[in-house]
Amino acid sequence: MSVYTILVPFDFSSNSILALEKACELVPPMQAELHMLYVKEGAADVDSQRHSMNRLLTALPPTFELQHNVHREVLNGTIHEEIIEYAKKCNANLIVMGSRGRSGVQLLTHGSVAQRVTHDSPCPVVLVKPNMLDQTPILDEVDSTYVSLKETDSPALDLLARAISLRATDVHIDPQTSELYGVRFRIDGSLVTYCTVDSGVAAHLMHQYLNLAKLDISEPFRPREGRLMLPSSMRDFEARLTATPVSGGGAMSLRLFSKDNVFLPLEALGFSGAGLETVRSMLRGSEGLVLVTGPTGSGKTTTVYSMLQTFGNRNRNIVSIEDPVEFDVPFVRQMNVDERHDVSMTSGLRTLLRMDPDIIFVGEIRDPENAEIALRAASSGRFVFSSLHTRDVASTLTAFRDMGVTNHSISGNLIGVVNQRLVRKLCEKCRKPGEFNEQDKDLFRAHGIEVPAVVLEPVGCVECRNTGFKGRCGIFECLKIDDGIKNAIAENATEAELRQLIRTQGIASLTAEALGKVREGITSFSEAVSVRWIPC
Ligand SMILES: [Zn+2]
Repeated sequence: MSVYTILVPFDFSSNSILALEKACELVPPMQAELHMLYVKEGAADVDSQRHSMNRLLTALPPTFELQHNVHREVLNGTIHEEIIEYAKKCNANLIVMGSRGRSGVQLLTHGSVAQRVTHDSPCPVVLVKPNMLDQTPILDEVDSTYVSLKETDSPALDLLARAISLRATDVHIDPQTSELYGVRFRIDGSLVTYCTVDSGVAAHLMHQYLNLAKLDISEPFRPREGRLMLPSSMRDFEARLTATPVSGGGAMSLRLFSKDNVFLPLEALGFSGAGLETVRSMLRGSEGLVLVTGPTGSGKTTTVYSMLQTFGNRNRNIVSIEDPVEFDVPFVRQMNVDERHDVSMTSGLRTLLRMDPDIIFVGEIRDPENAEIALRAASSGRFVFSSLHTRDVASTLTAFRDMGVTNHSISGNLIGVVNQRLVRKLCEKCRKPGEFNEQDKDLFRAHGIEVPAVVLEPVGCVECRNTGFKGRCGIFECLKIDDGIKNAIAENATEAELRQLIRTQGIASLTAEALGKVREGITSFSEAVSVRWIPC
């Protein structure tokens, strides 16, 4: 009589216990025979391991062992080879094992053991993966975070899940001393320490991230970049990794992107009614250059993606060259800048131009060469979108002139400029009316904003982790280039003159837009006036 045989390779990790539990569930319905196998590389104290196994079996339902046939085996040798050999010897019909093993660096070894067993097994292999760990983030309980990270089988995914649940945009792991590493999250633009871990846990975390990014872990002294392959439970997110050697060890940063935040409709970004109308009228065109400007981290890429999204179903060929591609956009054919393979912003753009594009997104204009080719594409009937680091709309003119772009080319091809910042939004659960003096009111009047009856202030509650803020929204200065502006540029107007002209056209400055958000109760007065890099 043939018996259905289930083999559970076992290493006493919580994950292999999980695998054992799964296997035990299968035993009764299949009337199977269960084999537990522990393989120790190097010398093993077989008796003590058998004893541990017996002890562990007491955790199974008490009648389980009596009712079913459970074999226990301890072997010495190369783990995956012994598992395969044993599977053949016991005529295993199924192998059930944890996909990850013990904590510490052994986990990596075990991860590859699972792969090798899957590859060489004479029978089907079921890999049991840990559930996503509990996502209760408690910033104050640093010690418990540390302990739980240490004990989980996949601290890397665990940490990522916690970062995601806190809406973090970045995770940083940096050495603080030779023994300790700090784990910090950037949430709503501010860097907060999440926990401190010992160097062993940190090394383990970083190894796991490198593995998830399919990067070579044998060269710790080389800076590396990559994109993490995330499990399906995190499919709405993308994570980019940068690992760099720094004094005291390796440091790692992860950039997190949420699809929900990347593919926002234009209406959700924070444009004022007038700003939104200006942008829509820019997008009704079909050629020329649209620039989204602002400092790093001001949300420019999100804005461009939102703009491109409006063309998504209009039968246009949309291509992009980005450095790097931050997010896969389904309706855009995206190309990565890759200097190692001679794909620069400029050469990539030349290639894209041969792909018969209607719309081109040039990730960022950084030098005169980029500027020239972007403008040339715009002048040849393409709709070009790009970003630029500038302080406000008027200073974009200076930036272009500094790159050697002629007034003629600017006035002939530029059709619109958006400049933006992000401000933190007050937590709606706890915000309350705050102090508001005459001087503050004067600022509203100076910017032509009606003085609000009350302004709201941050308080802090559980919902916002006691920061008083939750989420961010954009503030925008939007200019569609009309004949008046074109003429001014062509006539070599200075940046100051152009700024003056923009204001006389009634286009709100960033400060005015930010004060408008205060008036609406979306942000606080102090947040609005602290927006960095605003020209007065
Ligand atoms: Zn709150």
